[in-house]
Amino acid sequence: MGTLSLPRKVSVLGSTGSIGVSTLDLFEKAGVEVEVTALAAGRNVAKLAEQARTWRPRLAVIEDETKLPELRERLAGTGIEAAAGATAVADAAAADAQWVMSAIVGFAGLAPTLAAARAGAVVALANKESLICAGPSLLRQAKLAGGVVIPVDSEHSAIFQVFDPANAHNVARLILTASGGPFRGWSREQMAHATPEQALAHPNWNMGAKISVDSATMMNKGLEVIEAAYLFSMPAERVEVLIHPQSIVHSLVEYADGSTLAQLGPPDMRAPIACAYAWPDRLPWPAQRLDLARAGQLTFEEPDLARFPALKLAKDALAAGGAAPAVMNAADEVAVAAFLERRIGFLDIARVVAETLDKTAGEDLSSASDDDALAAARAVDATARRVAGEVVDGLMARA
Ligand code: NDP
Repeated sequence: MGTLSLPRKVSVLGSTGSIGVSTLDLFEKAGVEVEVTALAAGRNVAKLAEQARTWRPRLAVIEDETKLPELRERLAGTGIEAAAGATAVADAAAADAQWVMSAIVGFAGLAPTLAAARAGAVVALANKESLICAGPSLLRQAKLAGGVVIPVDSEHSAIFQVFDPANAHNVARLILTASGGPFRGWSREQMAHATPEQALAHPNWNMGAKISVDSATMMNKGLEVIEAAYLFSMPAERVEVLIHPQSIVHSLVEYADGSTLAQLGPPDMRAPIACAYAWPDRLPWPAQRLDLARAGQLTFEEPDLARFPALKLAKDALAAGGAAPAVMNAADEVAVAAFLERRIGFLDIARVVAETLDKTAGEDLSSASDDDALAAARAVDATARRVAGEVVDGLMARA
């Protein structure tokens, strides 16, 4: 066991999802003695109640208010407080925890993440959408409150582990690795007929639906480029993407003298979660060890922006700045949902995002103060969702 004290009071937002379940599983496997302040989820009341009965949080929150009576019933006799609604989720995020896992999916994660940051907690950030929509403000507010944001995305965790802040001025490039997703070798013609089932079948990672589809379009890597630029204060042109199908090298930092540092490990999200939990200490847990001899070959290739236009859209949105990343995020959420509901085709996802960005060019977030960051992001998000919805309707009408 390390020498530093590990956070004892923790909250897990999005506890019923892929990252939330991995977080609780890590606590169990590592045998850490956490005191859970809050567990929060969206709609899966049965799983939330089951987790609450195991982990005995002070508070269990379900966003869907219609599920509150069921949550209360399932927690009867436990003494665990039950609450519901988006405000209750944000309140739970700000409740008395030293470490908060932010693993709600999508824009819905922004308000709770900001609340946790403002409360001065260590925010373990899986919800990349918070950074995309309000990154600079989120990081400033966390710092002001005496807290810190530690990335959980495996690529950003990798960079975080090899990025020397004292040598930030000597960092030449951040290189984010990408598996390439399930359609890495597919032609555009093949992708035009891709089904949700095929898009959800990621070769290396078992993740929630939204991020799985984003991995297939490579929009996920685009979001990650923006995430990295904000987290590590890097200009867009110094954040690059490299396809690495084995998902063992999680990312690299190249310094001015040509030395490149990488972080490696088997693809298991519990590893970056353990890093975010124990940092700057290390958490011993029965992790699968990296066996490079067994892995044999590690291969790398350039991303193909013609087949995966979402990656370029994200880079352009980052370069455009202002509200463009938030618009892109909202349009992508709308488009992915429409694809999963089989209302549009796979290639339409990037089309919806591109058209929404075109139609909303000029939306501005730059004047928002930190106090207004959430309201400003919400306004941009609402506009972009409306426009993206219209683009989806237009595509369906033409089909
Ligand atoms: P999942 O879809 O598996 O889980 C999402 C979680 O968010 C669930 O607990 C869900 O609750 C909850 N949720 C959804 N909407 C709301 C809401 N409005 N209010 C409160 N809770 C809500 O997603 P993942 O775990 O895969 O991803 C979570 C985040 O982590 C995403 O931002 C993703 O990009 C990021 N991430 C995920 C990785 C992965 O390996 N999965 C890797 C890196 C980043 P319920 O199920 O009860 O509806």
